Amino acid sequence: MSGAVMPLYVRNPDGTTGMIRRQCTKEYKLTPIKKQVRALLGHPAGRVPKGVFAEQWVGISRDEFDRAKDSGIQYAINRHPLLEMDWSRADCLRFLARRGWASTPKSACIGCPFHTNAMWRTMRDERPREWADAVAFDRAIRQGGVRGIHLGRPLLGQAFLHRSCLPLDQAPIDKVTAHEWGQRQGSLLDLIDKDEEGEPSGCSPWTCHGDGREILPEPQVVAA
Ligand code: SF4
Repeated sequence: MSGAVMPLYVRNPDGTTGMIRRQCTKEYKLTPIKKQVRALLGHPAGRVPKGVFAEQWVGISRDEFDRAKDSGIQYAINRHPLLEMDWSRADCLRFLARRGWASTPKSACIGCPFHTNAMWRTMRDERPREWADAVAFDRAIRQGGVRGIHLGRPLLGQAFLHRSCLPLDQAPIDKVTAHEWGQRQGSLLDLIDKDEEGEPSGCSPWTCHGDGREILPEPQVVAA
């Protein structure tokens, strides 16, 4: 994962914190998907002829209708079946629960800095291999992992996966946020899984929740 620009938290030399502007969704997800679509259409290398296209179904529910958008490429047309059926996230959870899928967490990269404390805890307690992977990755990006990948300029501070700007295995992920308490008191099927900022978590290729989430200033870098 180290090649893409992830939205890492950064502690600057003067003690202030920032966040690197994200470009990872494009590199990790959109570019590989476009490549595969072109291959499936029979045009892996060259230009896809006009009128040849794939229909992509994107699972955006009524709760986040404002994230529905075109693919931006002429050889892939986005459709949004959940919006066509006017389904909310709760409708989806009920549908899945009736078919035996009791737990259907949102998807995101293992080491996504947008993970909530609850998501980190679940990973640590229930998926130790993923947790070990994330802890190792967090360690690896501290000093040199992001050097030169932020606009081609070295980063002056230290980078972290957790918003506390502490190593992941020392970060206060056991802290239960006020929002999480609120969720615990609500009904399972009525809750909308939102994080500390009140934004839904998870990251799908065409609707990455990293969009618009540069909640901290850009970190300090060596002047060009
Ligand atoms: S889940 Fe999305 S925002 Fe997070 S690291 Fe992966 S691509 Fe980036």
